[in-house]
Amino acid sequence: MERCDVVIVGAGFAGMYAIHRLRRLDLTLRCFDAAGDVGGTWWWNRYPGARCDIESLDYSYSFSPELEQDWDWTERYATQPEILRYAGHVADRFDLRRSIQFDTRVESATFDDESARWDVRTDHSDAVSAQFLVMATGCLSTPKLPEIDGIQRFGGATYHTATWPHDDVDFTGRRVAVIGTGSSGIQVIPLIAEQAAHLTVFQRTPAYSTPARNGPLHPQTVAARKATYQAYRERARSTHIGVVIDVAADSATSADPAERERRFSEGWDEGTLYGVASKFADILIDPAANELAAEFLRQRIRDAVADPDVAERLSPRTFPYATKRPCLDTGYFETFNRPNVALVDLRAAPIIEVNADGIRTTEQQVDVDDIVFATGFDAITGPLLALDPVGAGGISLREKWSAGPRTYLGIAIAGFPNLFLVTGPGSPSVLTNVIVSIEHHVDWIADLLATMIERGATSVEVDEIAEAGWVEHVNEIGDLTLYPLAASWYTGANVDGKPRVLMPYVGGFCAYRKHCAATAANGYEGFTLTSPGSGAC
Ligand code: FAD
Ligand code: NAP
Repeated sequence: MERCDVVIVGAGFAGMYAIHRLRRLDLTLRCFDAAGDVGGTWWWNRYPGARCDIESLDYSYSFSPELEQDWDWTERYATQPEILRYAGHVADRFDLRRSIQFDTRVESATFDDESARWDVRTDHSDAVSAQFLVMATGCLSTPKLPEIDGIQRFGGATYHTATWPHDDVDFTGRRVAVIGTGSSGIQVIPLIAEQAAHLTVFQRTPAYSTPARNGPLHPQTVAARKATYQAYRERARSTHIGVVIDVAADSATSADPAERERRFSEGWDEGTLYGVASKFADILIDPAANELAAEFLRQRIRDAVADPDVAERLSPRTFPYATKRPCLDTGYFETFNRPNVALVDLRAAPIIEVNADGIRTTEQQVDVDDIVFATGFDAITGPLLALDPVGAGGISLREKWSAGPRTYLGIAIAGFPNLFLVTGPGSPSVLTNVIVSIEHHVDWIADLLATMIERGATSVEVDEIAEAGWVEHVNEIGDLTLYPLAASWYTGANVDGKPRVLMPYVGGFCAYRKHCAATAANGYEGFTLTSPGSGAC
């Protein structure tokens, strides 16, 4: 069997940086990705309108000042093709592809107690024995189809936003259905509406969305950022979400109504993901404060949508604002003013089936030529459980996480020695600028491996007590917020039978980073490092 020091699963931004960073430790590496090239999310999600919701100047690597200076983003929020070009540029620049085997899915990873190594197998019959396993499998890389009867019977074409074809899809003259109105749906709907003869949007839960106010990046903006890039990045790392925003310290409920409106409007005008939420300190903590922000956003929908009945159906009322990732849009609500667009409210009339001609709800049959599923992902734990590594003593991750994920810092799992997660459950991951989280995790893992090399340790494992303490902390902090109130993919509520647990750490990136630093500074407290002859070291 082939041997190497590290197998990395995934060649998105996490796997790519892991290759670059771990090469500096002189470790031998193998990376596998089921995709045909680097980029992860941005290789798969090619639907029209796909773009980042964190500004391009932030949503990019910080590890190389030269890369930062050389790369020029063209838009405030880059499109998927531009982000994919960036990933390709990084791969070329740092010669990453020589460590990656594409079009290859890792099907199993089993820890061998005797050799303390991971036996990794792929769908191409690769068999690799690795000392370390880095799961850079992403939080949003297992697409989810809806549990609707009859999808296979549909006579037309079906698409999922997360497995979009590489060739252009032309909807000209066609009757199209989109199911799902999360971030993906909200991006794809306006563009399909412009092309299709008719578009029917099937909405189960309306989303909170603010306008992106996207546009070309002004050269002066770019120059100003480039002049202070590294200092800016450090500021970003000391914030809650890995992006520099001013978060107000006072309460929305005690603010004067005119002042409240002024501040919410200011947030709305910013065109950022958390512009409105950041204007008061209690939006994600106090239901009354949250409702004030939610009502402000509902009023914007009423302003944008001509038909008051449609505006009402597009207005979110069943969960607090920002307890699901808010959406950033370009002309989303205005799309419903078009004569070729119809909204079907699935709360009023649920889908019964997909049939040969289209979609049947309890109230009507809607005949369509194409169906686009913008129905999201089995998020955060999905890609990990799909691979289902088997740890020490033959315990699988599925068994270990049967009641929900348990990790230490979202990076390590008790019973799974020498295995590391990047942006795993229990880390801030999807609540942040994810590239900031990725760089942090990979650096932290690399520092731990460097320490092991220095001490002659071959094996590292987090203990159950440290893990239990972290899980408790993650839950306690989560319970102080409104996040658990939403039936969101953050809590696993979008997947039937998935344990309902708030998976990301909501305490903020800055606090999280301090926990990680303290663990390392205390000699990797909670971890046991062992060397072959002498045991613990
Ligand atoms: P991914 O990019 O998901 O890459 C994981 C890779 O692992 C995939 O290529 C997958 O094929 C591979 N893989 C998984 N399992 C296996 C296996 N068993 N064998 C082989 N390969 C495997 N975050 C932000 O912060 N800002 C944004 O603006 C933003 N926009 C987004 C837009 C979309 C449409 C989506 C879906 C997500 C977005 N995200 C955003 C989150 C995004 O996922 C992260 O920002 C980031 O790209 C994740 O990188 P990653 O390398 O961790 O994971
Ligand atoms: P999502 O937020 O989970 O949205 C899925 C949508 O599909 C929801 O509206 C959901 O309704 C609906 N749906 C699921 N099953 C359904 C069914 N059986 N019948 C009817 N409707 C159904 O997924 P997403 O839009 O792909 O976004 C996931 C995450 O990816 C985002 O939150 C974000 O983090 C990231 N993303 C970012 C961007 C960006 O702007 N950069 C773009 C896309 C994705 P319910 O809510 O009722 O379940």
